[in-house]
Amino acid sequence: MSHNFLWNANFHSLLKAIDQDLADQAQQEGCPGCGHKLHQANYPRSPVGMPLHFRFYYDERLSFCCEMCRRRMTPASVRFFGRRWYPGPLFVLISALLRGITESLLRQIKGYFGLFITASTLKRWRQWWCEEFPMTLFWKQASGLIPPLDLQRSFPRALLAFFQGKLEEKVCSLLQFLSPLTRGGLQAF
Ligand SMILES: [Zn+2]
Repeated sequence: MSHNFLWNANFHSLLKAIDQDLADQAQQEGCPGCGHKLHQANYPRSPVGMPLHFRFYYDERLSFCCEMCRRRMTPASVRFFGRRWYPGPLFVLISALLRGITESLLRQIKGYFGLFITASTLKRWRQWWCEEFPMTLFWKQASGLIPPLDLQRSFPRALLAFFQGKLEEKVCSLLQFLSPLTRGGLQAF
């Protein structure tokens, strides 16, 4: 598996463009509560783990506020996975490596991504994929829409294996597939 695409601006620029489309679509639909107009009210974000010269692709989370009821509406995103500090592509790629959390895995992550992530963070991520993700309403509904997965592999490896193409295409498809989880009040996290 080559993770070199993470050092290619085109990949980050594509994710940013997908997020913009998701946000435009949500804005056209108006406030989910009262149907009134949504105004831009983005959140600043400080992405952790991204190479410095790509951070500006991740420096804000697109979000809206209703002009009438003032309710916050945060559209789906492929760049941000809930409130996690690490952007979506790093979260899914690193999560795909998590079987046993060992010293050699920590070295592998350092080698691939230049990151030192603590074992406790990785345990939390693995716990989320193993225990919480399968229980989400999203997965209960979405799992019926795709052919049965090879669940010998854990999440998200099983999902990455399901999507076609080169690794960057798989990651992009997986983030689009999971993006409904990141919508709204981030209640899934
Ligand atoms: Zn409203």
